[in-house]
Amino acid sequence: MGPDKGRSEMPLLKQCKQRASDVIEQESGHLHALSQGIWRTPELAYQEHTAHQLLSSFFSSRAWQVQPHYHLDTAFRAHWTSEPTDCPRLHVGFLCEYDALPELGHACGHNLIAEVGAAAALGLRAALESVQPPRHIQITVLGTPAEEDGGGKVDLIKAGAFQDMDVVFMAHPAQDDAAFLPDVAVHDVTVKYYGKASHAAAYPWEGINALDAAILAYNNISVLRQQMKPSWRVHGVIKNGGVKPNIIPSYTELEFYLRAPSRKDLAELQEKASACFTAAATATGCKVELCFPSHDYYNVLPNNTLAKAYIENGKQLGMQFTNDDLVLNALSGSTDFGNVTFEVPGIHPYFYIGSDALNHTAEYTTASGSEEAQFYTLRTAKSLAMTALDVIFNPELLESARHDWKMMKDIEEEINSGVTNKARESSSGAGCASC
Ligand SMILES: [Zn+2]
Ligand SMILES: [Zn+2]
Repeated sequence: MGPDKGRSEMPLLKQCKQRASDVIEQESGHLHALSQGIWRTPELAYQEHTAHQLLSSFFSSRAWQVQPHYHLDTAFRAHWTSEPTDCPRLHVGFLCEYDALPELGHACGHNLIAEVGAAAALGLRAALESVQPPRHIQITVLGTPAEEDGGGKVDLIKAGAFQDMDVVFMAHPAQDDAAFLPDVAVHDVTVKYYGKASHAAAYPWEGINALDAAILAYNNISVLRQQMKPSWRVHGVIKNGGVKPNIIPSYTELEFYLRAPSRKDLAELQEKASACFTAAATATGCKVELCFPSHDYYNVLPNNTLAKAYIENGKQLGMQFTNDDLVLNALSGSTDFGNVTFEVPGIHPYFYIGSDALNHTAEYTTASGSEEAQFYTLRTAKSLAMTALDVIFNPELLESARHDWKMMKDIEEEINSGVTNKARESSSGAGCASC
C-alpha cells in the first residue's frame, strides 16, 4: 500500500468505527432485551434451548443466514457476507456463550457474553455495509453452548466450525477491563468408590467403607498441595457421601477440577492426583473408578497484536485497563476458548460490568442482570467491532496477529512435545478407569 492510499484509508476506518458504535447504540434496547431474556431463564450446559431460540430469532429477524442446532442441539451459526469481490477474503468470527450455573443462575454473566457477541457482529456488519470494504468479508456468529461444563467449543472445533475463520473474538465479564488474563488448562475427574454396605454398629467389620476412601482421597490431595507448583490448582467436592450414619457407605463420589498452565503440567498433575485417589482405594479395600470427561480445556494463547489493538480502541471509549499485577498474573480460570486459540488467532478480553461482585456468586448474578452492566457490555462490543475493523483495514495488523499466533502455538508445541497423559490413557479417553 502506498502512503497516499494509506492516508486516504484512515478516515474511512475511523468512519467505520463510528458507524459500528452508532449502530450498537441504536440497537441497545433490543440487545438489552436479548440478554435479559437469557438472564431470566438460566439454562445449564447443552440445555440452553431458550437462549438458542432467542439468539437464532434475533439474527434471523435482521436478515442473517441462521443455522439453528448447528452441530449441537443448542448451538447456532449466523452468517453474513459482503458483496463478493476480487479482494482477498477475510472471515471474522464472534462467539456467544449463554450457559448458566447450577442454583446460581447467570453468576458468570454469560448472558452478557451473548450480548457482546451479537452487538459486535451487528456493529461490524453495519459499518461494512456503509462502505466498500477493502476485502471480501464474511462474519460468522457462533453460539457456543456449555462453557461451564462440557466444552461446546471443543465439539464445534471437531465438527470443523472454525476451519476457515481468520480471526475470532469474544469477551467475558469480570471485575476489571483486561485484554488478557491467564486462563489455564483444566480437566475434571469424577472419582467413584465402591465399598460394601453393612450395619455400622452391629457388624461394621463386614463392611467396606467408601466414605473413608472419599475422605482419604480428599486429604491425600490436601497433602499433595505442598508439592504442587504455585500455578497449579486442585479443588473438589464430595457429591455423594453415603446415605445414613448407621449404614456403612457402599458408594461415594467426588468431583475434582485439576488446573495447570500447560497441558504438560496438567498431565503431571493428573498423574499425581490419580495416585492420591487410587491410594485411598487401596487403604480402604474399595474399588475405584476415575472418570474423565471427553474434552480437556486448553490454556488460552495470548495474541499481543490483537490485544494491543483492543486496548487502543477500548481506551478511546474510556476503558481503564487494570495494571494490578495480582489480577494480570494471577491464575484466572479456564475456558474452552483456550482450545479455539489453538485453531484460530483470537482474543478473549475481560470486562468490568459496574460491580465489584465476584464471578460465581449470587451477587454476580444480580450484577450481570443489572441495568448498569449495559453501558460496559456495549462499550466492550464496540471495542471488539473496532478491533475487527482494524484487522480488516490494516493488512499488516492481520499479518502480525497471524505471526503472534504461530509463534505462541510453536512455543506451546515445544512445551507439550512428547506429553503423554498416562492417567488419562489408562481410561482410554472419555470414560472411566477402574483401579
Ligand atoms: Zn464461569
Ligand atoms: Zn464464564
